[in-house]
Amino acid sequence: MHRRTILFIGPPGCGKGTHADRLSEEYGIVPISVGELLRKAVESGTETGKRIADLMAQGMLVPDEIAMEVVKDALEDHSDMDLLFDGFPRSVKQAESLDRLLPDFDRKVDAAILFRVSDQEVIRRISGRRMDPATGKIYHIEFNPPPPDIKTVQREDDREEVVRKRLDIYHSQTEPVTDYYRKRGRLVEIDGEGTPDEVYSRLTEVLRPMLTE
Ligand code: AMP
Repeated sequence: MHRRTILFIGPPGCGKGTHADRLSEEYGIVPISVGELLRKAVESGTETGKRIADLMAQGMLVPDEIAMEVVKDALEDHSDMDLLFDGFPRSVKQAESLDRLLPDFDRKVDAAILFRVSDQEVIRRISGRRMDPATGKIYHIEFNPPPPDIKTVQREDDREEVVRKRLDIYHSQTEPVTDYYRKRGRLVEIDGEGTPDEVYSRLTEVLRPMLTE
């Protein structure tokens, strides 16, 4: 049976992670957050881990080869599952590498979903974002407050100056990825502004046929 491979592309704070988790609960698709896997790699305390931590703290991308290793491991670990990559690919090089890699796993990109959110809205959303350091779960002080017994922290790369850097990198390195998939007829654009429920219903309208057939 053909296993689905779906990609979520969009600026930081566009709702990729939140919607990936919700889709996973509803449809059983496995969400793969490359950012979260990289944060785990950092905890290992190795030299590579330290280098990754440094780049992430500055809002820069980690080298393509490191992102590809994480993705390849995920493909090997979940060969019989529908997969949803959240925050990958972030460069045209990564998109090209993915196209070379997927046939080995009997897969292709079924859809690349682009969440459109303005820079101004990104800054507004991220300033209230908090993380539970124990689980990596993301909350928002206004829209999705953490339970009172959970002590959350602000991700270092969620500070405003770092978010501005991440947005610059998104526009220069990741936006070209959207043209890559548009040219190949794989891009689906979603308006990422509005409430989480509104965005989720736009998303499921597109993905439901793909995930239930
Ligand atoms: P995220 O949790 O998706 O916001 O990612 C956090 C950080 O992880 C990014 O700012 C990058 O430093 C790094 N990262 C995540 N995904 C990738 C990727 N596909 N390529 C390179 N770096 C990545």
